[in-house]
Amino acid sequence: MSSASPKLFLLLGEPLALDLVNTRIHRNGADVDLLDRPAALDQWLHAEDARVAWHGRVRAQELAAIRDRRDALDHLLRASSSHQRGSAGALRKLNRALALPAPEAQLAWHTDGPHKTSPGTSARLTALLRQFAMSTLDLLTGPDAGRVRQCAHPSCILLFLARNPRRRWCSGATCGNRARVSRHYRKTTA
Ligand SMILES: [Zn+2]
Repeated sequence: MSSASPKLFLLLGEPLALDLVNTRIHRNGADVDLLDRPAALDQWLHAEDARVAWHGRVRAQELAAIRDRRDALDHLLRASSSHQRGSAGALRKLNRALALPAPEAQLAWHTDGPHKTSPGTSARLTALLRQFAMSTLDLLTGPDAGRVRQCAHPSCILLFLARNPRRRWCSGATCGNRARVSRHYRKTTA
């Protein structure tokens, strides 16, 4: 199997929960899960390493837990942006993650004195799930509430935060451009 290219993830740099949700895309009429194996999640975490503390390789059960949580957050964010009520099951998953104790750092004492260390392998998943839940909570109830949108291109499902209320596309270079090209094509063939 070829390893995924760095361009695998179409949209990064949105709030963390949206970047996570955007690992599911629509391509050639089908839903595609970009996090289809632990190595793909390794790559995503690497791309997010400025705001996510994760050390070591992802294990299969961690991937399963993160995908499960992602789908719940996806449901809540899309429900909110279409003014519908989120399901009780998804709400429960988010609230469970918010209730988890999630150590951000630990203290280790070596022969040369105290050191701040990152949470161990057992705590890293908890910390990450909590971080995703916090980001979702912020998007749903914080100052940017009501600004999550789905890309206006009919075959794109990516979500973004429309800080600029006129933003319509996940990316002007891809979807915005595709829409311009098909508008032009319709005009010239009409
Ligand atoms: Zn798009």
